[in-house]
Amino acid sequence: MQNGSEIDQLLKLISKLPGLGPKSAKRILLKLINNKDELVKPLAKSLTDVYKNISRCKICGALKSILIECDYENCKILDKKYDKICVVENIADQWSIENSNIYKGYFHILGGTISSAGNRKGDLLIDSLVERVKKEKIDEVILATSATIEGQTTAYYIQESLKNYKVKITKLAQGLPVGGEIESLDDGTLISAFKNRSNLISNSD
Ligand SMILES: [Zn+2]
Repeated sequence: MQNGSEIDQLLKLISKLPGLGPKSAKRILLKLINNKDELVKPLAKSLTDVYKNISRCKICGALKSILIECDYENCKILDKKYDKICVVENIADQWSIENSNIYKGYFHILGGTISSAGNRKGDLLIDSLVERVKKEKIDEVILATSATIEGQTTAYYIQESLKNYKVKITKLAQGLPVGGEIESLDDGTLISAFKNRSNLISNSD
């Protein structure tokens, strides 16, 4: 392409976004260039703000602004109190579960899975999950990791980490398609997986 380097650079970046082929990337680029004041300027500011201010809460894994404390009904409980924690791999999974309206309770976002190389345990918020279970008088931990080898390995590791605590541990039903990532499931499958979740450990009696 005979474009200036700024344009090439932007196009390259847009093409890295998920779900965008070269055609859509070019469409977005043109839309931006033709709306510099309405789109490029506020977008640049918003990106800078997000870059500077948004990070993951080190306790629950939710995205939060460093300008305020985590209030995602997760860490700072204001007027709500739940007795369940749903453990997911990433924020997209949390959003899918919230959209399905099947679950009311805390979320705990691990930030990934234990990879087959086994070198990610330290990066995941598993210790803080154990802390939360202790502190927040949790009755049930729902493991909602993907039906992948990594997802299931992670679920097993969490189950082991919690086995000495007085808490019921459940796992989403086996109806999940093998290899199914939570965020890609339709509401119906997700709702049935929640309703039919199975007991792994019941230490609560
Ligand atoms: Zn938090």
